[in-house]
Amino acid sequence: MKKVLIKIRTSMKFFILVSIATFIIVALVAFLYKPIYSVTLNREKIGYSADKSKLQSRIDDYIENGDGENSYVAFVQVDNMPTYNVCLLKRGITPNDDEIFEKVAETGTPYYKYYAVSEDNEEKVYVADFSTAESVVQELKDKDSSNIDNISIIEKYETDVADFVQAEEAVASLYKEKVETPAQSTRASGIKVASTGSSKSFSTSSNMSRSPVSLGISLIKPVTGTITSRFGSVSRIRSGAHTGLDIGSPSGTGVKAAASGTVVWAGYKGSLGNLVVISHSNGVQTYYGHCSKIYVSAGQSVSQGQVISAVGSTGNSTGPHLHFEIRVNGVAYNPQSYVY
Ligand SMILES: [Zn+2]
Repeated sequence: MKKVLIKIRTSMKFFILVSIATFIIVALVAFLYKPIYSVTLNREKIGYSADKSKLQSRIDDYIENGDGENSYVAFVQVDNMPTYNVCLLKRGITPNDDEIFEKVAETGTPYYKYYAVSEDNEEKVYVADFSTAESVVQELKDKDSSNIDNISIIEKYETDVADFVQAEEAVASLYKEKVETPAQSTRASGIKVASTGSSKSFSTSSNMSRSPVSLGISLIKPVTGTITSRFGSVSRIRSGAHTGLDIGSPSGTGVKAAASGTVVWAGYKGSLGNLVVISHSNGVQTYYGHCSKIYVSAGQSVSQGQVISAVGSTGNSTGPHLHFEIRVNGVAYNPQSYVY
């Protein structure tokens, strides 16, 4: 019995000794050596980093927001991302995260986001933010400017900043006094429901029908993406039920004409923001709202699949998406009965 106990005690002592020795060796190695990352950019070694995730998140932040010096920077395009390789190095080699960051930042191209107010799709003035652009449009509306139907807001992503103007200056340069003629004064806000097949007028009324009709033409999806709001849904950002289908898609995504036809509207239209309306045969019209850019103009013929605009968030919108509507003689039908 005693012998067994002694044996156990000896082996325990040995085990503790080995543990302590291992611990000391590991601690020594950790003190003398530490894992470090050699950083390569574009196949060129540019330095060492001890904290790769911290360095990379600093780079990611720069790409997403810029350096903070210019508040109009929307994002920074970096052609090459650094690559990290773990290596063991003696202490004494100092990581140069700042230098690495500068080197990566040097290759980046900042993109500035701002807004153009255009007349007849020609960019006239530039403003720094969307609310200024909207107030310019509202002011022109309030002053009953004769060109209000041809005024639109364009979201710009450019590598150079334009010369911005204040709202008053923008209004002053865009305002056009209305020359009143009897014909114009009896005109009802320019929007009429089409009564015949193909027409130059269109309607943004809340007139809608939940039972589908035959369109007599086939449509394709203008964009692919996630459906964020369905036809007929009610939301607190809208006054009535939803007359279209919302498809979430990144800003700048090309919007395709659902079918061939003639553009009857290409410009800013109230809560739908930058809007394109295309008239097809059989009195069918398709609507593409909240666009950031419009590539077509009224009167132009477009073919099915032709890119007519870019997805955006202009007008009454909380994020980039396409508002897609299908109307027949002014009545809105559920786009999901035909596409999506
Ligand atoms: Zn919508």
